[in-house]
Amino acid sequence: LLALEGVTVRFGGRAALDGVDLAVAAHETVCVLGPSGSGKSTLLRVVAGLQPPDTGRVLLAGADQRGVPPHRRGLGLMFQDHQLFPQRDVAGNVDFGLRVRGAGRAERAARVAELLELVGLPGAGRRAVAALSGGEQQRVALARALAPNPRLLMLDEPFGQLDRGLRERLVTELRALFGRLGTTVLAVTHDQGEAFALADRVVVMRDGRIAQTGTPLEVWRRPADEFVARFLGFDN
Ligand code: ATP
Ligand code: MG
Repeated sequence: LLALEGVTVRFGGRAALDGVDLAVAAHETVCVLGPSGSGKSTLLRVVAGLQPPDTGRVLLAGADQRGVPPHRRGLGLMFQDHQLFPQRDVAGNVDFGLRVRGAGRAERAARVAELLELVGLPGAGRRAVAALSGGEQQRVALARALAPNPRLLMLDEPFGQLDRGLRERLVTELRALFGRLGTTVLAVTHDQGEAFALADRVVVMRDGRIAQTGTPLEVWRRPADEFVARFLGFDN
């Protein structure tokens, strides 16, 4: 579904991404791990069309995305700093992407009800987002990202603000949800526990390059090198 071919992004003299090749198959959940500054967010931004690559290509379903604006890429985005619209209620947030696409009122209402059910907030449409807990707000943001039926859902540290218990619960729920919907997911996290729980495949980044990719078990059992092993905490 998604392919990056030799993608390089430079800021000044420094490569934030350095010749990255990566493929994500339909229905796969891939988690990108790596230290701060290793290029994880840049990778998502390139796929989203928010950052043009200096060299290389991004393909979605085989089509080169050069020149395709972000809103035409069929993606669902949920970034850590993607705030909900505080002046809208829950339903107004979730149906934002549907309204932009010009969906009718009845269609939007039905889809919102379905999505809120899906993320475990049935009937919450009229609630004010300010009155929701952090975890509930994350669910609303997720429902908003899923609303237009994206072919690829991209999450950048989606649960950064939440406490561990809530994160673990959401990750378990999401894994089940993505399995049920057949969603294709590319997610970034610092947290290897989260990545290993969510992912079919993990990608470990270092200095703008992919240090290793494999199933969680493969990476866990056989870190490719010292860097990956250390990053996974095997040095202690
Ligand atoms: P974190 O885990 O801290 O979010 P990250 O892996 O997401 O880190 P990126 O945000 O992709 O890292 O950044 C990779 C490198 O590119 C860093 O050195 C960063 O300083 C640099 N960088 C990212 N965006 C820009 C920008 N707009 N202008 C200049 N440099 C940038
Ligand atoms: Mg980042």
